[in-house]
Amino acid sequence: MMKVVVGVTESFSAAHSIPGHKKCGKIHGHNFLVSVEVEGELKNGMVIDFFDLKKVLREVIEKFDHSLINEVIDVPTSENIAIYIFKELKKIGLNVVRVRVAENADKWAEIRV
Ligand SMILES: [Zn+2]
Repeated sequence: MMKVVVGVTESFSAAHSIPGHKKCGKIHGHNFLVSVEVEGELKNGMVIDFFDLKKVLREVIEKFDHSLINEVIDVPTSENIAIYIFKELKKIGLNVVRVRVAENADKWAEIRV
């Protein structure tokens, strides 16, 4: 059976500060974009229903929306946010193969499996 990758993107608005960083040590905000990809074999023509994948991703990032990310992640770089989201999605049992967290159109961190 052929394996296929599907992906969705969700966003959230949040504040963070990077402890010890000259510029980013001050609390500031971003409209974060989070993209995830899941790989699997097709069942009824789908790897996973886009609607279900978006719902699950929204549930994971909901705690960050309009909050201070430092309350959940000590050093909330895009890299660490991506790792956090990756682990949460794995816990649910999804075969996640990519997580990308972008804090701007020109800055992102990505995990690839
Ligand atoms: Zn920032």
